[in-house]
Amino acid sequence: MTRYQPHLSKTRIQNGRQCHKRLWLDVHQRALAEWGEASQLRLAQGTAFGELAQALLGGGHLVEADHTQSREAQAETQRLLARPRARAPQIFEAAFEHERVRVRVDVLRREPRSDTLIEVKSTTGAKAEHIWDAAIQTWVLRGAGRPVKRVQIGHLNKDFVYQREGDYEGLLALTDITDQVDALQPGIPTLVRQLKKVVQGPKPEITTGAHCSSPYDCPFIGHCQSMEPPQPEFPVTLLPHGGKSVEALLAEGYRDLREVPEDRFDNPRHQRIAEATRTGKAFVDPALRKAIKALPWPRYFLDFEAISFPVPRWLGTRPFQQIAFQFSCHVQTSARAKPRHHGHLDTEDSHPEARVAKRLVECIGDTGPILVWNRGFEAQILRQMADVQPKLRKRLLGMVDRLVDLLPLYREHYYHPDQRGSWSLKAVLPTVVPGLAYDGLEVANGLDAQMSYIALLNESLGRPDEERLRAALTHYCATDTVALLALS
Ligand code: SF4
Repeated sequence: MTRYQPHLSKTRIQNGRQCHKRLWLDVHQRALAEWGEASQLRLAQGTAFGELAQALLGGGHLVEADHTQSREAQAETQRLLARPRARAPQIFEAAFEHERVRVRVDVLRREPRSDTLIEVKSTTGAKAEHIWDAAIQTWVLRGAGRPVKRVQIGHLNKDFVYQREGDYEGLLALTDITDQVDALQPGIPTLVRQLKKVVQGPKPEITTGAHCSSPYDCPFIGHCQSMEPPQPEFPVTLLPHGGKSVEALLAEGYRDLREVPEDRFDNPRHQRIAEATRTGKAFVDPALRKAIKALPWPRYFLDFEAISFPVPRWLGTRPFQQIAFQFSCHVQTSARAKPRHHGHLDTEDSHPEARVAKRLVECIGDTGPILVWNRGFEAQILRQMADVQPKLRKRLLGMVDRLVDLLPLYREHYYHPDQRGSWSLKAVLPTVVPGLAYDGLEVANGLDAQMSYIALLNESLGRPDEERLRAALTHYCATDTVALLALS
């Protein structure tokens, strides 16, 4: 009886390198995969950059057959390769197969006596997993008889600034990775043989761990966790930046943080977390109140919402630049005064920071601390605004000097077991002010905010939907500054 022999692909091999069980599930129980909104957004952005890269590389012949039509795609590729090089010098999505491994190549450039393979990635450089992607493809192409001599990653040029509408010349950078790819070739046949055995064998017994999110988030995590004994309420994995310490605890058989002996931790922050978790009592250092009380009035509580695009959408911006499209600011003039709220949500669909900056200086006066959560981000946005609003430059840079970051204060002087190892505003807030939380908001996190904002820009929403989304975004951003008020 012939054994079932599914084909491998570049993606399946990469899945198998991450985890044999992931590969097995991908082949046999694909429907169990759950792709989050963030993955879908990244995929859509990657596809858009891939299409733009084809134009930036000077165009070529696209193999139209999709990934479900492998034979047709390979036949179409062979027809194009049968033409003289001058009539098909560059092929996109060329399809090849070798030893039952199928690949589609982003760009195959036919040089006079050899081929160049280009793998396009919507990142700002070549990463280790990209080199593996290209190495697997190179192995298949050489095995199928193509003379691949040069291998490159086509990625975003991080220094590119979008200056003329529709002109992306210079956005694509090519990095040569031929040597790294060649160095991986000798190990690929063994890897392929090993992974073929995995897919033909029984489902691998692998438990979840750090490998489930490295280098990529695994879409089977929900399924795998549902098959494992329930996690303790406070697993040792909640220790932030646990790395090797957590691995060691797990290896020693500890799963519940409350069961780890006190003297087992050498990191003071881990000690504090473990003690609060064991006793069920929050750690509150009086230094926290003292530091906040010492701040002068008036006080400003500021939060920006920002978005980034791999392919710059607005003139004057770079790939992946964080660009603020909204702010919320509560102003309190004295301990007894009622805070006033200001905010702005910009949906004009051009670089919004000059307009956001203009509205910001209308509500932030010349003196008084500006309280934020995670200063680096707000400082970066204010500096960017100073660059696009020269008239307000001095005031905006002055604000950078007045930023007071509550995050390190809380990190050093406060911990509640319900934070479960996180000092995000969303984790800390309900432990300080029970009842005040983000649960139930239509826009409840940064990703929701970005998706809602993109919908406002891209979609022709009816007026009720547009107003609903605007209100949800405004409410979400204001909740962040209400939280800052409540924590100070
Ligand atoms: S969730 Fe983890 S253990 Fe399960 S398949 Fe994915 S990587 Fe493997």
